[in-house]
Amino acid sequence: MSLSKIIDNKKKSDILEILHYLKEQDFGFFTSEPENFPNIDFSLNDFPEIIKNSIIDFDKNSEHDLRSILNQLSELGCLTVELRFFDAITQEIFLKYLSYFKTSPVRTLNIVLKYSSWTTCKNMDQILLTNKRLSKVIVHNSPKKLLQKLNHQILIFTTENILDASCCGNISPYYFQSNIDFYKEALTSNTCLDKKVCVDSGGNIKNCPVMKSSYGHISNTKIKNCLDNEHFKKLWQIKKDDIEICKDCEFRYICPDCRAFTISGDIYSKPKKCSYDPYTNLWN
Ligand code: SF4
Repeated sequence: MSLSKIIDNKKKSDILEILHYLKEQDFGFFTSEPENFPNIDFSLNDFPEIIKNSIIDFDKNSEHDLRSILNQLSELGCLTVELRFFDAITQEIFLKYLSYFKTSPVRTLNIVLKYSSWTTCKNMDQILLTNKRLSKVIVHNSPKKLLQKLNHQILIFTTENILDASCCGNISPYYFQSNIDFYKEALTSNTCLDKKVCVDSGGNIKNCPVMKSSYGHISNTKIKNCLDNEHFKKLWQIKKDDIEICKDCEFRYICPDCRAFTISGDIYSKPKKCSYDPYTNLWN
């Protein structure tokens, strides 16, 4: 349909200016054959997995068995796993944990490690080269900073302790994701917690490791049994359109969410660590 049939001339010139800008930036093109681009059905759920992603935490007192957790996650179709180590571990243990993934269906593995003498850049490069499932490795509490990209893999050394709860839940344009899968998910579900299950360093099964509510201990509760718990799955459904202030924000379908830290503590209020005001369009 021609633009002139649906909008007045003033708006038309504004919209054309935006469209030409998008074309110049290679975000799109004009076509005389729009029938070749049928509408996308955003109501379709393209994610057959029962669990989509998982975070498993460890510290020096953790006793949970990674292999048994991975087996449970595999049965639920989980394809993305993040392992986070609060305390330094030996290279031997690290390689043993990595070997568990060799026969698992997990496609993407992210690891957050505490710096120690063996986590050198050279060593980590070699580990990334021989473990293609490893998508991102972050070494925290490192004496120096480094960011390195190796094809699809990323290696980061940071001087910060990024596992500190104060580093969780930050919202910034840096974390925005503009792709169809994210957009589709944002229309119907929570972009952080949908189909996510976490095991904190104490072995508690949670929606997010920093949240208080636990739905059982991994030593005596099967992850799949938590899926029968309505409270566990309630947070999966809270989309940006349900959240005060966010529902008026132009970034609501590309912005990741955080339900652990909210401005009023209410699960339907805006993330606490977002400084954007959609009513003034300013980041404070
Ligand atoms: S107001 Fe909400 S949707 Fe907008 S940037 Fe902040 S957290 Fe994201």
